[in-house]
Amino acid sequence: MSSYRIALLPGDGIGPECMDATHRVLDHMVNQIDGLDLGFTSHRAGAELYRDTGETLPAAVLDDCLAADAVLLSAIGLPDVRYPDGTEVQPTMMVGLRRALAVHSAVRPVKLYRGAPGVLKDTGPGIDFVIIRENLEGLFASFGGGSRVGDEVATDTLVVTRKGTSQVSDFAFRLARRRNGRPVDGKKMVTCVDKANVFQSMAFFRKVFFDVAKDYPEIQADAVYVDAMSLYMVQNPWDFDVLVMENQFGDILSDLGAGLVGGLGLGPSAEIGQEHGLFQPSHGTAPQLAGKNVANPLATILSAAMMLDWLGDKHNDAVCLGAAVDLEQAVEKVITDGNVITPDMGGNATTSQVADAVCDALGCDTPGHDARSVATPAT
Ligand code: ATP
Repeated sequence: MSSYRIALLPGDGIGPECMDATHRVLDHMVNQIDGLDLGFTSHRAGAELYRDTGETLPAAVLDDCLAADAVLLSAIGLPDVRYPDGTEVQPTMMVGLRRALAVHSAVRPVKLYRGAPGVLKDTGPGIDFVIIRENLEGLFASFGGGSRVGDEVATDTLVVTRKGTSQVSDFAFRLARRRNGRPVDGKKMVTCVDKANVFQSMAFFRKVFFDVAKDYPEIQADAVYVDAMSLYMVQNPWDFDVLVMENQFGDILSDLGAGLVGGLGLGPSAEIGQEHGLFQPSHGTAPQLAGKNVANPLATILSAAMMLDWLGDKHNDAVCLGAAVDLEQAVEKVITDGNVITPDMGGNATTSQVADAVCDALGCDTPGHDARSVATPAT
C-alpha cells in the first residue's frame, strides 16, 4: 500500500472553509477505501500571514511543499493586504510557488455536469473539454520584470521557448490519450490556440506544437486563433477535447470556460511539472463570503479528485485512480440531485452540508457516469 503526504495551504478568505470541507471528504475516503493512505500537513500561507508576519510563504512551508507528494491549496489573497508598492501579495506568492515547484502545465477542465447552472441555452451533445495553459513562461515570464521609462513607456516581454512549448504540448497529447475524445463524436484531438498569424512568438509556439504532434499520430492535431476560439467556446464547445495555449491566453479563456459550466465555484485546476503537482480551485478568496459557511467547496473537492488521479497515474496506483473516479462521481451526484447546493448554484446549503453530502454520495452507484474530466497525467 502506498501512502502519500499532502501539504495543505488553506490560505485566505473562503479558502480555509473550502479546505476544511475538502479535508473532511478526503479523511472520509481514507476511512472508507481499503488501501487509500493520505497524510496531511497544513500550513498558513498567503495574505493574512503577510499581514501578521511580513511573509507570504515562509521558507519552511515551501520546503514542506517541495518534500510533499502533492500540494493542495485553497485560495490566496486579500484585496486590502498589499505590498508597500500597492500591489497585491497573491500574484507574487503564486508565481514564486509555481516557479519553485516547476509546474509547467496548468489543467482546467471545463465540464458541464448534469444539473449545473450552465449559461448556454443549447448544450448540444454536452460540454467536456480541458484547457491546458503553459504555466511558467509566455507573458507571465515578465512577472517581476518588464520595464518602465518614466511616466511615458512600459513594456512586458512574452517569452516562448522550445522546451516550455514542447513540455506543455506533450502534456496535452498525453492527456488526450487518457480522455474519451470530444463530446460531438468521440474523436481525440488537441487544438493549439494562438495568434500565429500576427506574432513571431505565437508562430513559433504553433510550430513546436506540430513538431510534438508527430509523436501522437493517433490524436488529431489542429490550430485555432485565440479570438476565434473565444467564439467557438460559446457557439460549439462540444467540438473540442483538449486545448493548449500560452500562459496569458490560458488565464483568460479558462475563466470563460468556468463561466460556461456553472461559475468559479465549480472550477477545479491542477498544475503539473516533472516532479510536483499543485492543485487548487480556480476561484479566488471571495472575501465578502468568508466566514459565513456559504462558499461552494466543490471546486476544491474536484481539485482533490484531480490530485488523486495524478498521484494514481504517477505511482501506478489503482486504488488512488479509483478514488479519483469515486470522488468525481460523488460530486456529480450532489450536483445532479440538486438538493444540497450552495447559493452560487441557486441552493441554500452551507459549505459543510455540501461536504457531508459528498461524503454520503461516496459509495452510491452512479450508473452510466463517465468520470474522465479529472484526468491529470503525471510527467
Ligand atoms: P482572484 O483575483 O483572487 O482570482 P477573482 O477576481 O477571480 O479572485 P473570486 O474571489 O474568485 O474573484 O470570485 C469572484 C466572485 O465569484 C466572488 O465574489 C463570489 O461572488 C463568486 N465566487 C467565487 N468563488 C466562489 C465559491 N467557491 N463559492 C461561491 N461563490 C464564489
